[in-house]
Amino acid sequence: MDIQSRYLAVVEQIPESVQLVAVSKTYENQSIKEVYDLGQRDFGENRVQELVQKYESLPKDIRWHQIGHLQTNKVKMILPFVYLIQSVDRPKLIQKIQSEATLIEQKVKVLLQVKIAKEETKSGLSELELDKILKEYAESVYPNIEIKGLMGMASLTEEVGEIEDEFSKLKEIYKSYQEQFKFDTLSMGMSGDFQTAMRHGSTMVRVGSLIFGKRL
Ligand SMILES: *Cc1c(COP(=O)(O)O)cnc(C)c1O
Repeated sequence: MDIQSRYLAVVEQIPESVQLVAVSKTYENQSIKEVYDLGQRDFGENRVQELVQKYESLPKDIRWHQIGHLQTNKVKMILPFVYLIQSVDRPKLIQKIQSEATLIEQKVKVLLQVKIAKEETKSGLSELELDKILKEYAESVYPNIEIKGLMGMASLTEEVGEIEDEFSKLKEIYKSYQEQFKFDTLSMGMSGDFQTAMRHGSTMVRVGSLIFGKRL
Protein backbone atom coordinates (compact mmCIF):
# COMPACT_ATOMS: atom_id res chain seq x y z
CA MET A 1 0.00 0.00 0.00
CA ASP A 2 1.13 3.55 -0.65
CA ILE A 3 1.06 6.39 1.88
CA GLN A 4 -2.23 7.80 0.66
CA SER A 5 -4.07 4.46 0.97
CA ARG A 6 -2.58 3.83 4.40
CA TYR A 7 -3.59 7.32 5.52
CA LEU A 8 -7.16 6.82 4.33
CA ALA A 9 -7.33 3.41 6.04
CA VAL A 10 -6.33 5.06 9.34
CA VAL A 11 -8.77 7.96 8.91
CA GLU A 12 -11.59 5.47 8.37
CA GLN A 13 -11.04 4.05 11.84
CA ILE A 14 -11.19 7.39 13.61
CA PRO A 15 -14.51 9.06 14.45
CA GLU A 16 -15.06 12.78 13.77
CA SER A 17 -14.82 13.52 17.48
CA VAL A 18 -11.20 12.36 17.66
CA GLN A 19 -8.39 14.43 16.19
CA LEU A 20 -5.63 12.75 14.21
CA VAL A 21 -2.10 14.06 14.46
CA ALA A 22 0.05 12.53 11.71
CA VAL A 23 3.45 11.95 13.30
CA SER A 24 5.87 12.82 10.53
CA LYS A 25 9.18 12.72 12.42
CA THR A 26 12.00 11.31 10.23
CA TYR A 27 9.80 11.26 7.11
CA GLU A 28 10.49 13.43 4.11
CA ASN A 29 8.61 16.52 3.01
CA GLN A 30 7.35 14.68 -0.06
CA SER A 31 5.56 12.10 2.12
CA ILE A 32 4.10 14.82 4.33
CA LYS A 33 2.85 16.66 1.25
CA GLU A 34 1.03 13.54 0.04
CA VAL A 35 -0.93 13.34 3.27
CA TYR A 36 -1.42 17.11 3.32
CA ASP A 37 -2.97 16.90 -0.14
CA LEU A 38 -5.62 14.56 1.26
CA GLY A 39 -6.61 17.22 3.77
CA GLN A 40 -4.50 16.40 6.83
CA ARG A 41 -3.34 19.58 8.60
CA ASP A 42 -2.07 18.42 12.01
CA PHE A 43 1.45 16.98 12.04
CA GLY A 44 3.69 15.98 14.94
CA GLU A 45 7.47 16.19 15.24
CA ASN A 46 9.88 15.48 18.07
CA ARG A 47 13.13 17.15 16.99
CA VAL A 48 13.31 20.91 17.02
CA GLN A 49 15.79 21.25 14.15
CA GLU A 50 13.68 19.04 11.93
CA LEU A 51 10.49 20.78 12.97
CA VAL A 52 11.88 24.21 12.09
CA GLN A 53 13.11 23.00 8.69
CA LYS A 54 9.78 21.40 7.86
CA TYR A 55 7.86 24.47 9.02
CA GLU A 56 9.95 26.63 6.69
CA SER A 57 9.55 24.44 3.62
CA LEU A 58 5.96 23.18 3.90
CA PRO A 59 2.59 24.98 3.60
CA LYS A 60 1.95 27.56 6.30
CA ASP A 61 -1.50 26.30 7.23
CA ILE A 62 -0.04 23.15 8.76
CA ARG A 63 -0.57 22.95 12.53
CA TRP A 64 2.69 21.69 14.02
CA HIS A 65 2.63 19.69 17.25
CA GLN A 66 5.75 19.23 19.35
CA ILE A 67 5.38 15.70 20.71
CA GLY A 68 8.76 14.65 22.10
CA HIS A 69 11.15 15.67 24.83
CA LEU A 70 11.85 19.38 24.43
CA GLN A 71 15.08 20.93 25.69
CA THR A 72 14.54 24.22 27.48
CA ASN A 73 17.17 26.01 25.37
CA LYS A 74 15.23 25.16 22.20
CA VAL A 75 11.85 26.44 23.31
CA LYS A 76 12.30 29.83 21.71
CA MET A 77 13.01 28.31 18.28
CA ILE A 78 9.52 26.84 17.99
CA LEU A 79 7.35 29.24 20.01
CA PRO A 80 6.62 31.67 17.17
CA PHE A 81 4.88 29.02 15.06
CA VAL A 82 4.15 25.86 17.06
CA TYR A 83 0.43 25.03 17.36
CA LEU A 84 0.51 22.78 20.44
CA ILE A 85 3.35 21.65 22.68
CA GLN A 86 2.18 18.20 23.79
CA SER A 87 5.16 17.21 25.82
CA VAL A 88 5.41 19.39 28.92
CA ASP A 89 6.99 16.63 30.97
CA ARG A 90 8.77 18.52 33.75
CA PRO A 91 8.13 21.65 35.83
CA LYS A 92 11.23 23.39 34.48
CA LEU A 93 9.88 23.24 30.95
CA ILE A 94 6.61 25.03 31.66
CA GLN A 95 8.53 27.75 33.50
CA LYS A 96 10.76 28.21 30.48
CA ILE A 97 7.81 28.31 28.06
CA GLN A 98 6.19 30.97 30.23
CA SER A 99 9.30 33.17 30.31
CA GLU A 100 9.95 32.86 26.56
CA ALA A 101 6.29 33.46 25.70
CA THR A 102 6.29 36.67 27.73
CA LEU A 103 9.21 38.00 25.70
CA ILE A 104 7.31 37.64 22.43
CA GLU A 105 3.95 38.47 23.99
CA GLN A 106 2.37 35.26 22.84
CA LYS A 107 -0.09 32.80 24.30
CA VAL A 108 1.08 29.20 23.94
CA LYS A 109 -1.13 26.10 23.96
CA VAL A 110 0.27 23.06 25.76
CA LEU A 111 -0.62 19.62 27.06
CA LEU A 112 0.86 18.28 30.28
CA GLN A 113 2.48 14.90 29.72
CA VAL A 114 1.75 12.51 32.55
CA LYS A 115 3.85 9.45 33.25
CA ILE A 116 1.54 6.46 33.07
CA ALA A 117 3.88 3.75 31.76
CA LYS A 118 5.84 1.56 34.12
CA GLU A 119 8.93 1.81 31.91
CA GLU A 120 11.57 4.18 33.16
CA THR A 121 12.28 5.31 29.60
CA LYS A 122 8.92 7.03 29.25
CA SER A 123 9.02 10.54 30.66
CA GLY A 124 6.24 12.60 32.12
CA LEU A 125 5.04 14.41 35.19
CA SER A 126 4.19 12.49 38.33
CA GLU A 127 0.68 13.04 39.64
CA LEU A 128 2.15 15.19 42.38
CA GLU A 129 3.99 17.42 39.91
CA LEU A 130 0.88 17.64 37.75
CA ASP A 131 -1.22 18.77 40.68
CA LYS A 132 1.35 21.37 41.68
CA ILE A 133 1.53 22.85 38.18
CA LEU A 134 -2.25 23.04 37.93
CA LYS A 135 -2.49 24.76 41.30
CA GLU A 136 0.03 27.33 40.10
CA TYR A 137 -1.89 27.65 36.83
CA ALA A 138 -5.07 28.37 38.78
CA GLU A 139 -3.16 31.07 40.62
CA SER A 140 -2.15 32.65 37.30
CA VAL A 141 1.52 31.75 37.55
CA TYR A 142 1.51 30.97 33.80
CA PRO A 143 -0.47 33.81 32.19
CA ASN A 144 1.00 33.19 28.72
CA ILE A 145 0.13 29.52 28.69
CA GLU A 146 -3.14 27.81 27.93
CA ILE A 147 -3.25 24.23 29.20
CA LYS A 148 -5.60 22.34 26.88
CA GLY A 149 -5.38 18.96 28.57
CA LEU A 150 -3.16 15.94 29.10
CA MET A 151 -0.97 13.62 27.05
CA GLY A 152 0.35 10.16 27.86
CA MET A 153 2.19 7.20 26.40
CA ALA A 154 1.40 3.65 27.39
CA SER A 155 4.03 0.98 27.96
CA LEU A 156 5.45 -0.77 24.94
CA THR A 157 4.02 -4.20 25.67
CA GLU A 158 1.98 -6.94 24.06
CA GLU A 159 -0.21 -7.08 27.13
CA VAL A 160 -3.36 -5.22 26.19
CA GLY A 161 -4.59 -5.34 29.79
CA GLU A 162 -1.59 -3.35 30.95
CA ILE A 163 -2.11 -0.74 28.21
CA GLU A 164 -5.81 -0.50 29.08
CA ASP A 165 -4.99 0.05 32.75
CA GLU A 166 -2.62 2.88 31.87
CA PHE A 167 -5.05 4.61 29.49
CA SER A 168 -7.97 4.34 31.88
CA LYS A 169 -5.82 5.74 34.67
CA LEU A 170 -4.94 8.75 32.54
CA LYS A 171 -8.59 9.21 31.65
CA GLU A 172 -9.46 9.25 35.35
CA ILE A 173 -6.82 11.88 36.06
CA TYR A 174 -8.06 13.90 33.08
CA LYS A 175 -11.66 13.76 34.31
CA SER A 176 -10.69 14.92 37.76
CA TYR A 177 -9.36 18.21 36.35
CA GLN A 178 -11.39 18.62 33.17
CA GLU A 179 -14.18 20.78 34.46
CA GLN A 180 -12.12 23.13 36.58
CA PHE A 181 -9.60 23.83 33.84
CA LYS A 182 -11.90 23.50 30.81
CA PHE A 183 -9.72 20.78 29.30
CA ASP A 184 -10.76 19.61 25.84
CA THR A 185 -7.81 17.47 24.76
CA LEU A 186 -6.74 14.04 25.96
CA SER A 187 -3.91 12.94 23.69
CA MET A 188 -3.27 9.22 23.89
CA GLY A 189 -2.78 6.45 21.36
CA MET A 190 -0.15 5.74 18.69
CA SER A 191 0.04 3.32 15.74
CA GLY A 192 0.00 0.22 17.93
CA ASP A 193 -2.60 1.23 20.47
CA PHE A 194 -4.80 4.07 19.16
CA GLN A 195 -7.92 1.91 19.03
CA THR A 196 -7.45 0.89 22.64
CA ALA A 197 -6.84 4.54 23.53
CA MET A 198 -10.05 5.66 21.78
CA ARG A 199 -12.04 3.06 23.72
CA HIS A 200 -10.71 4.74 26.85
CA GLY A 201 -11.73 8.24 25.95
CA SER A 202 -8.86 9.62 23.90
CA THR A 203 -9.76 12.78 21.96
CA MET A 204 -6.48 12.96 20.02
CA VAL A 205 -4.36 10.18 18.57
CA ARG A 206 -0.79 10.49 17.31
CA VAL A 207 -0.18 8.07 14.47
CA GLY A 208 3.11 7.82 12.56
CA SER A 209 4.38 4.53 11.18
CA LEU A 210 0.96 3.16 10.35
CA ILE A 211 0.56 6.03 7.88
CA PHE A 212 4.10 6.70 6.65
CA GLY A 213 5.56 3.20 6.88
CA LYS A 214 8.58 1.94 8.75
CA ARG A 215 10.65 4.75 10.18
CA LEU A 216 14.16 5.18 8.72
C1 LIG B 1 6.85 8.67 17.50
C2 LIG B 1 5.75 9.04 18.39
C3 LIG B 1 4.41 8.73 18.06
C4 LIG B 1 4.02 7.95 16.84
O1 LIG B 1 4.51 6.64 16.91
P1 LIG B 1 4.04 5.53 15.86
O2 LIG B 1 4.21 4.27 16.61
O3 LIG B 1 4.95 5.66 14.70
O4 LIG B 1 2.64 5.79 15.51
C5 LIG B 1 3.42 9.17 18.92
N1 LIG B 1 3.69 9.88 20.03
C6 LIG B 1 4.96 10.20 20.38
C7 LIG B 1 5.18 10.97 21.63
C8 LIG B 1 6.01 9.78 19.58
O5 LIG B 1 7.26 10.09 19.94
